[in-house]
Amino acid sequence: MLDSTPKELKERRFGVINPAKTCQPLGAMYAALGLHRCLPHSHGSQGCCSYHRMHLTRHFRDPIMASTSSFTEGSSIFGGAANLKTAIRNVFEIYNPDIVAIHTTCLSETIGDDLPSFLGTIDIPAGKRIIHANTPSYAGSHITGFSSMTRAMVDYFAEASLPEKKEQVNVLPGFVNPGDMREIKRIVRTMGLEPILFPDTAGVVDAPMTGQFSMYPEGGARVEKIIDAGNSRYTLALGLFASSDPAMLLERKCGVEEILLKTPIGIKATDNLLMALRFGFLREISPELAEERGQLVDIMTDTHFHFHGKKVALFGDPDIVSALTEFLLSLGMQPVHVLTGTPGKAFENEVGTMLEEAGIRGRVKAGGDLFEFHQWIKNEPVDLLIGNTYGKYIARAEDIPFVRMGFPNLDRSVHSYLPVVGYKGAMRIIEMVSNALLDRVDRDALDEDFELVM
Ligand code: SF4
Repeated sequence: MLDSTPKELKERRFGVINPAKTCQPLGAMYAALGLHRCLPHSHGSQGCCSYHRMHLTRHFRDPIMASTSSFTEGSSIFGGAANLKTAIRNVFEIYNPDIVAIHTTCLSETIGDDLPSFLGTIDIPAGKRIIHANTPSYAGSHITGFSSMTRAMVDYFAEASLPEKKEQVNVLPGFVNPGDMREIKRIVRTMGLEPILFPDTAGVVDAPMTGQFSMYPEGGARVEKIIDAGNSRYTLALGLFASSDPAMLLERKCGVEEILLKTPIGIKATDNLLMALRFGFLREISPELAEERGQLVDIMTDTHFHFHGKKVALFGDPDIVSALTEFLLSLGMQPVHVLTGTPGKAFENEVGTMLEEAGIRGRVKAGGDLFEFHQWIKNEPVDLLIGNTYGKYIARAEDIPFVRMGFPNLDRSVHSYLPVVGYKGAMRIIEMVSNALLDRVDRDALDEDFELVM
């Protein structure tokens, strides 16, 4: 393929080439879809909204609904208050959502639109709700946008209305697929607890085909549940970047204690999730989950020789990549290049410490881009690449096996239905990784070395 990435590394302090992230409003839009009967609203020009809807539609292979303030030249100069007012009236009249979740864009932030004051002038129909999050895209990434909209849910809805905390747990899953959200709920329920999980896109972006169009499928977190989240004993914030900020707000606002955990990818992170439930609520580990863990350990033992010492380059969203690094290390692999497009020194510290403790000299970067990541691989080749769809160009240029994981996955299907979290998800990751490695062994084998059993 046409590969114009030079091997020579040069310091580049400005400019991004092939970003490893997308913009804040997309994350806010995805989070808003995780509220039942909510219509995300993009306060900006139509192009932003179209791009975000298209990207989500391509990943989930389901039509993603959202409205826009449709800025024109006039609103770009005089402000978007009038457009927003008209849009909100039309949205409630025509599309009849229960909630409109508004996020801003670069344009509306740059001209300084003040959403809280605008919202004070809008008539909201009885029984309907509006929430908002500021998501300028010249800061953060889709992950921080997701976090900001989740924070808005806490800010607008959560209430501590009881003198004592209830025996219930909030779970903030972070920016993961609906298949992962379903699996996290199953794990918590298997431990005998009913989770208040939000945002919850299960049943929204993976809704079943019924033969009839429904603007608002059955899924999504219910507002009453998020209000009641203020009465829970704990909040499990799964992922520092996507979930900690809203969990901290819930702690400050309602006194619900935050337990910050990694996204439960791999055996250790899933163990930690179960231990948090066990000690927080004095529950025994369910036999069902104990059996799944035993199966996973068996699989890890059986397949260890496929993985041991293999060098890996991985990139993607910080919470996913951090947890995945931990799991790859537990498989005996060597993650030598680890990158996220989301800025944040905490990522570099966390992953850097894990590599150091494992005795691996690797490159770790937050806020990096795929051009530089490709250069790293050219300078130190790897056995496997893991990342979102954009990694396919690097995989092809360098002829390395490639496992698609994370957002977006634009050229394969079904992925959003199947979890990568929990013990079951770890088994799936092992299958994906070992298949990629063994397919390469088969492809490269001489006729006399082409084995039936591996
Ligand atoms: S203008 Fe800003 S918000 Fe709109 S698509 Fe571009 S980066 Fe995203």
